[in-house]
Amino acid sequence: MLKRVLIANRGEIALRIIRACRELDVETVAVYSEADESSLAAQLATCSLCIGPARAADSYLNQDALLTAARITGCDAIHPGYGFLSENPDFADRCVQAGLKYIGPSGDVIRKMGSKAAARTLAQNAGVPVVPGSDGPLSGVEQAREVAGQVGYPVLLKASAGGGGRGMRQVERPEDLEGAYQAAQAEAVACFGDGEMYLEKLVLNPRHIEFQIMADSQGHVVHLGERDCSIQRRRQKLVEESPSRALTPELREKMGAAAVAAARAAGYVGAGTVEFVLSPEGDFYFIEMNTRIQVEHPVTELVTGADLVKEQLRVAAGLPLSFTQEEVKVSGHAIECRINAEDPEHEFRPCPGKTEFLHLPGGPGVRVDTALYTGYEVPPYYDSLVAKVLVHAPTRLEAIRRMRRALEELVIEGYPTNAALAHLIMHDPEFVRGQYDTGFLDGHLEKLLELARTCDQLTTGKE
Ligand code: ADP
Ligand code: ADP
Ligand code: MG
Repeated sequence: MLKRVLIANRGEIALRIIRACRELDVETVAVYSEADESSLAAQLATCSLCIGPARAADSYLNQDALLTAARITGCDAIHPGYGFLSENPDFADRCVQAGLKYIGPSGDVIRKMGSKAAARTLAQNAGVPVVPGSDGPLSGVEQAREVAGQVGYPVLLKASAGGGGRGMRQVERPEDLEGAYQAAQAEAVACFGDGEMYLEKLVLNPRHIEFQIMADSQGHVVHLGERDCSIQRRRQKLVEESPSRALTPELREKMGAAAVAAARAAGYVGAGTVEFVLSPEGDFYFIEMNTRIQVEHPVTELVTGADLVKEQLRVAAGLPLSFTQEEVKVSGHAIECRINAEDPEHEFRPCPGKTEFLHLPGGPGVRVDTALYTGYEVPPYYDSLVAKVLVHAPTRLEAIRRMRRALEELVIEGYPTNAALAHLIMHDPEFVRGQYDTGFLDGHLEKLLELARTCDQLTTGKE
């Protein structure tokens, strides 16, 4: 097994990794920015050290600082978590060159899958359906116009290096193409330092269905079923569940096999996620592969009983997967609500602040992954995710009822969050019936916010 792991991340995922390491008797080194000195990860790791100023570019993205920290603390491995450097092939290479195990696929695999345009081609060559669109990257706006004309509007312009919903623009009409292309490209250059673009037809009213993959260095590739992540705002997930109401056993089998084929084609090792859009007619298309642990991985852990982070550590240590495809069994139903420090009333604007009071839900079938504590100041420099509330129950309806009561127990005071909105989603008739697509939240937001205001007035007596 590994001896000492440096965690090149922060927040709840740093804590999640510390927990897995502790249970395996692996030591941990937490690195933190000046803004994160009072973080739980810094307090719970075997040892911790400051690697630089608050700005991510100066700390969590500072490769030299991370590698130096790993060397002076005697680490033999680095876990990148999600976001930050987790999909940076050069960082993966540099870890290996420094004699460290990188807990994730090799730089070469990340290179193949990390560029979304290249991943499309790779999936296509592996016989996995992709959305009609450009063959590889676009040479410029003229080619975009040509391809859009062929596949038909509306289309999605996407940055090859994009992530977190950035570098992406929906285009309804030819006359809007040029402006959208320039805006998306500028955003991609600003966020990812890379302006390569490609184009896909917009699949109308789709579900976002993704498959969890685990692969070892012995060549075993296994999927752990799907997650339905169709409840999104600004193309970012808010609620995830497994299994999906949209899949029949036959479709699940087909999509799972396609996900495994895509991972195999890339020579994948470690935890990864293959994302698809699923049309209302039941046609599915590969959209991208995330070559890292995913925010919503606990949903899969609850229904399969697997510990995906421990599995990542095992695989990095050169051990085979601890289960075969036949041994993966999905039982019951799990739901996750992402709780963000943000204001749904104002376009989900991030609202960091001091956690004046915190009460977390508990009881049967409830799991909360968070790095919050009462008095903790959420720094303004990073992601607004502050907690993941998860439930597991025998049936979907019981899971929904359990989530309602878990969210009723949750108290976060000090800044606005989307928790009340998540609670209302759990009461929405279409959500409860399982009839929703990626447009759900945009279509229901006004009604849900109006309901939230009414509830507020009734409980506080305010007019
Ligand atoms: P997930 O499905 O795991 O949420 P996301 O693509 O939303 O996947 O990314 C997870 C986290 O990583 C989010 O906090 C997001 O803001 C961040 N992220 C995604 N891509 C990048 C990137 N290229 N650079 C920096 N952060 C990123
Ligand atoms: P990111 O790297 O930001 O996660 P994705 O390519 O995964 O980017 O797309 C983000 C979201 O946009 C998806 O979850 C899905 O809801 C939507 N989306 C992506 N591609 C398409 C498409 N071709 N048609 C319709 N919706 C899409
Ligand atoms: Mg995605």
